[in-house]
Amino acid sequence: MDNSAPAPTKILYIEDDPASRRLVQRVLDSKGYQVVVAADGLEGISMARQHHPNLILMDINLPSMDGREITTRLRSLPNFSETPIVALTANHSAGSRELALAAGCTGFLTKPIDVTSFPSQVNAYLHGLADPLSANEKNEHLQRHAQNLVVRLENKIHELESANKRLRELDRLKSDFIIMVSHELRTPLTLISGYAHLLDEQVKQTENILSAEMVSGVAEGLNLGVSRMRDVVNEIIKVARIASGTLDLALGPVRLSEVVQDVYEEYREVVEKRHLNIQIGDLSKLPILQGDGTQLKSAIYHIFSNAIKYTPDGGSIFIVGRAVGDTVDLIIQDTGIGIPDNEHRRIFDQFYTLGSIEHHSTSKFAFQGGGLGLGLAIVKGIIEAHNGRVWVESERRDLEQFPGSTFHILLPLEQASQPATL
Ligand code: ADP
Repeated sequence: MDNSAPAPTKILYIEDDPASRRLVQRVLDSKGYQVVVAADGLEGISMARQHHPNLILMDINLPSMDGREITTRLRSLPNFSETPIVALTANHSAGSRELALAAGCTGFLTKPIDVTSFPSQVNAYLHGLADPLSANEKNEHLQRHAQNLVVRLENKIHELESANKRLRELDRLKSDFIIMVSHELRTPLTLISGYAHLLDEQVKQTENILSAEMVSGVAEGLNLGVSRMRDVVNEIIKVARIASGTLDLALGPVRLSEVVQDVYEEYREVVEKRHLNIQIGDLSKLPILQGDGTQLKSAIYHIFSNAIKYTPDGGSIFIVGRAVGDTVDLIIQDTGIGIPDNEHRRIFDQFYTLGSIEHHSTSKFAFQGGGLGLGLAIVKGIIEAHNGRVWVESERRDLEQFPGSTFHILLPLEQASQPATL
């Protein structure tokens, strides 16, 4: 004799709203049903296949596939042609019931559910109740259902095509990036190996007697190579941190006038060598803001170094700031080659560099010198971590007329107690 208890009636509820899921689960659980839930359409189809429920409750407004589409799909599967599928929706609009029935639903219930009558309604569908739909109505709504499906399919194809295009583009950018990183690392590596070789030669020739001058020259050369390599590696690490949302800010009072001055000092020699005219407005009157001074310096450093890189020898760079409400707008303007109108957003993407990488020079501060295409992505990450905004204004790219570019960094004076994650 088989004295095991009969298997409980199993109900699958496909619903993206956790509160509705909990309520229905609680109500049906208390009546002895076993309820399994799925939060979206694809998960719902796979749960249906796995659990073989006796009845399916179907939310209609679901992300990606909607409830009618899932129903049509389930009806095409061999085990689900007869399973009661009951639409459970907050959409009471005219025609939505007929549309759900035409798509293959057995019944149609509206949310919010009436807790007292809901179990008996479900029980009725379990025992063969099916909402009526005349043949004419069915035909008419099937046509609408088919049209909706085609429109959704068309939109999905557009979405996938543009996602695919974007992925191909990213793939190309990454390949270019690998080539550029190799170039960027090879230059200092050649420098280091050259100096090491020189040291070796000198030791051999002078029988271990090296002048202090010689040693210091070699050490300087080696240091230069190593620091260049460190810069490249640090840039890659920082962008990876930004991309993974693990850039932590150490907040404190920041005086932009000091940050800008620090950045400028690092470039003084290059500025003189390239005869650039740098004009910094009076930033000392700007309000002190709350931020991470080191990260903000790094952001301003990247924009300033771009201004230097993309401005021809003898050109000018202006840095001014203004308080706008409870924000500060720092403006870095150059008289360089400019940026095409349609690239103003993309230049802030990771790995994005304008122009062909064959023309990529590895001299960091020369006019149009090389870069990894990470600078502005780092800037954007840092500024957005401060709940600020960065953007560029530029008319066009023109290597003869030099229309120039103007970068704005807009920063709030105060940070919320929890800095936003990227
Ligand atoms: P890169 O390492 O290539 O300089 P960035 O992310 O710093 O990378 O900048 C992305 C692209 O934006 C650059 O390749 C360059 O074409 C353009 N760009 C950035 N700043 C300027 C500027 N001040 N003037 C002209 N072009 C600029």
